[in-house]
Amino acid sequence: MRLNQDPDVLLMGHPLLFQEQPQVAVGEMSSDDFQHNLEILKQKQLSTLGVGLAAPQIGWPARVLSVGISELNRFRYPQAPDIPFAFWINPQITDFSENTCWTWEGCLSVPGMRAWIERPESITVVGYNERGERQERNLSGFTARIMQHELDHLNGKLFPTRVEDKSLIIPNQSIEHQEEWAEGWPTENAHKTTRGQISNER
Ligand code: ZN
Repeated sequence: MRLNQDPDVLLMGHPLLFQEQPQVAVGEMSSDDFQHNLEILKQKQLSTLGVGLAAPQIGWPARVLSVGISELNRFRYPQAPDIPFAFWINPQITDFSENTCWTWEGCLSVPGMRAWIERPESITVVGYNERGERQERNLSGFTARIMQHELDHLNGKLFPTRVEDKSLIIPNQSIEHQEEWAEGWPTENAHKTTRGQISNER
């Protein structure tokens, strides 16, 4: 399939966001339509100021995602590290750390809310780049977090299903006013961790 020039971001509730996405055949990666779709995915990630975007979020049923933080899109995550822009095709986590960390997650497909979520602190991911070459990276901290969030999209999972406790969900706008929160709310560490930062404790 070939995406149109400016696809909408699908919102939670759309069936595509709850489906396991199909693998991309290696022979398909060099096709015109596939390369066109990659470019649209990248443009959409940058224009929506996302730090990552998964293909099904723009109506493309495929195991493809993009990640990257630069001066072009750091607006929503001022404290986040720079992450070089990259495509991942058929990505797979082959290893993850026992130790976990916490951060505020949000999602373009779930607007208006954020949640304090625990996941493994570091991972090894294997997949292909946009030229169909195999790539493997060890990621940690916020970079590992984005990758795990985007990879969840390829398996039909959205971040609200990862929230351990309802008290850890907040309105997105509230995070702009963290200094006004009640002391220690919703947890000691969530209180003092801003978007793009990681905490080792709940
Ligand atoms: Zn998302």
